[in-house]
Amino acid sequence: MADIITAPSVRAAVTPRTARRVLSVRDLAVEFPHEQGTTRALDGVSLDLHAGRVLGVVGESGCGKSVTARAILGILDRPGRIAAGRVMLDPETGGSQDLAALDPNGNVMRDIRGRRIGLIFQEPMTAFSVHYTVGNQIIEGITAHGLMSKAEARNRAIELLREVGIPRPETRIDAYPFQLSGGLRQRVGIAMALACEPDILIADEPTTALDVTTQAQILTLIEKLQEEFGSAVIMITHDLGVVAEIADDVVVMYAAEVAEKGGVEQIFKNPHHPYTWGLMGSLPRLDADVERLVQIQGQPPSMLRPPTGCRFHPRCPYVMPICKEVDPELAPVSDDPGHLQSCHLDEETKNREAAKLLAGMMAEAP
Ligand code: SF4
Repeated sequence: MADIITAPSVRAAVTPRTARRVLSVRDLAVEFPHEQGTTRALDGVSLDLHAGRVLGVVGESGCGKSVTARAILGILDRPGRIAAGRVMLDPETGGSQDLAALDPNGNVMRDIRGRRIGLIFQEPMTAFSVHYTVGNQIIEGITAHGLMSKAEARNRAIELLREVGIPRPETRIDAYPFQLSGGLRQRVGIAMALACEPDILIADEPTTALDVTTQAQILTLIEKLQEEFGSAVIMITHDLGVVAEIADDVVVMYAAEVAEKGGVEQIFKNPHHPYTWGLMGSLPRLDADVERLVQIQGQPPSMLRPPTGCRFHPRCPYVMPICKEVDPELAPVSDDPGHLQSCHLDEETKNREAAKLLAGMMAEAP
């Protein structure tokens, strides 16, 4: 029996979804005004992150997944701005804060970035200054939040470098970023993000710039540290294979909206949206000569003038007249609590097509 890296390898959750919510995003909209008009880069996105769980946010380039991360952290590229919605930190406690209402450059938000929410960048060089050693930058991150003295912070930095698998951390702490390989730089980037032991880690395509072997090592490291530190993680990725490996919950995004969301098993074993089927169908096979089973036809739309109705309709093989007129609501999948999807197809067709896709993925290679 040929095998593939999809449904069979979905991660077993460490923490149940009933765990406390640490972050709750509601109806978030982000706009980028420019000369030709306004690009709506996020349009009514809602998601929940639970303590100790990994939320995979997946979709093609430009779907809004990185914008979601940057909006949460208050680091949107200019002139982007949050046009609507809430980003509630600790939504279940009395001390809950709406990050969307804070000044992104103010002291409160600066403190939250780093101390409460750590960011792992796609290319860690963008997070580092080339003029300072990696040790100085980790120490600066710790002392800026007044957590310990400089000497204590240096010891902590060495400990963190060891924790993320940097060999000889006592000497590597004095290296400059350009003296390290891409893989080691990403490990240092993870150490920086963990420096203040944040409750939430946001990893924005953390393996994209790395070779395949290093990608696997970095994912294993993030998973290990997530379990060790008990952080909740948002993993932003274009790769559904990464989601299968590391996520407990999944949000599938298309054209600034949520197409489907649910637990990782719900998404991989009972996918309900043609876009999710397309992503799953284009996962690389371990067995076949051809790298991809299916490609999603066409390109994602321009968000300056998104398609009417369902934004996926120009690319969808199942398109119906209603799809061009009416934007489908994100609605619960029947008999599958916590699983939501936004597609006009009837339940029977969705079940039949999902079963066909899964059977095809499990079929023997020619
Ligand atoms: Fe395709 Fe219509 Fe469903 Fe959109 S609503 S994904 S166009 S079938």
